[in-house]
Amino acid sequence: MIESVEKLTKVQPVVMKQLQTIYEKNRTGHAYIFDGAKGTGKRDVAMFFVKLLSCLNVSKNVPCETCRNCKRIDSGNYPNLFQIEPDGQSIKIDQIRDLISEMTRTGFEEGRKFYIIHHADRLNNSSANTLLKFLEEPDGEVTAILLTEAYHSILPTIQSRCQHIKFSDVPREIIMSRMQEQGISLSMSATVSLVTNDLETAISLAKDEQFAHARKTVLKLVEAVKRNIHEALFIVYDEWLPSFKERSEIELALDLLLFAYRDIVAVKADSKSVLVYPEMVSSFREIALHSTYEQLSNQMQSILQARQNLQRNMNRTLMMEQLMLNLQEGYTFV
Ligand SMILES: [Zn+2]
Repeated sequence: MIESVEKLTKVQPVVMKQLQTIYEKNRTGHAYIFDGAKGTGKRDVAMFFVKLLSCLNVSKNVPCETCRNCKRIDSGNYPNLFQIEPDGQSIKIDQIRDLISEMTRTGFEEGRKFYIIHHADRLNNSSANTLLKFLEEPDGEVTAILLTEAYHSILPTIQSRCQHIKFSDVPREIIMSRMQEQGISLSMSATVSLVTNDLETAISLAKDEQFAHARKTVLKLVEAVKRNIHEALFIVYDEWLPSFKERSEIELALDLLLFAYRDIVAVKADSKSVLVYPEMVSSFREIALHSTYEQLSNQMQSILQARQNLQRNMNRTLMMEQLMLNLQEGYTFV
């Protein structure tokens, strides 16, 4: 399904304005690169752009959605639009040859022709070189839209011939509200939206039992650290070490732990930002009350230190024991 113009404008206000200005001033170029992370709406915005430039009844820089061209674009039957995806790991030279012969075929409909290359960073050298000349001097009114999540992997010769359109990351509030529309709790969406910026990944993570378990274990540990070192170490031996074995699991757990201390700082500062663990607010308030900013900063430093030690392959039990001692240091609970 293609997102509505309002939704796209909320997610990518700058890009949408840029494209609408191009239309308005009648300055459509030969080639664009849409550069942005996964989930930033590149594909939908590309379809919007094609529609805007093909629609028979554009009003206020928005396509009508009801004319013959808009409808054919929606249903994937628009003969002036050609799309290619990587065939396996790369975009092959034959795909580019097909594309060029398709674009230069006579007997086409009137009007501008478009091609969209998905994952354009996967053009290999020979396919990129074949594309190059056509990109610069297409036959007739042709516009290329290259989509990528890895702009820097695109050959500079291609980059220099395209207008670079940079997509911004989706604001956290939008990811959170979309997740809640899908029935995911506020607390889970608050956490997941910090771990990833891609809605699809976010939703699957929110439904992942292992992730829910990791989140729970981390919060248990924060509460235990608040009480005393023995309880903290008990949680480490009894739950943390058995739960997080792979390096990626430990990294995620340490990130989740870091977010907890960031929340505590936010609570202490009375910040209005949405917490990563909204349900923990009263417990975090108590911790904040008993901690100075300096202590909290040291605690966050020691979590980052643990992450570095993990990179250096430090013994994982030792790493966690040291972290617990560091987190405990300076606490004044009785
Ligand atoms: Zn239309």
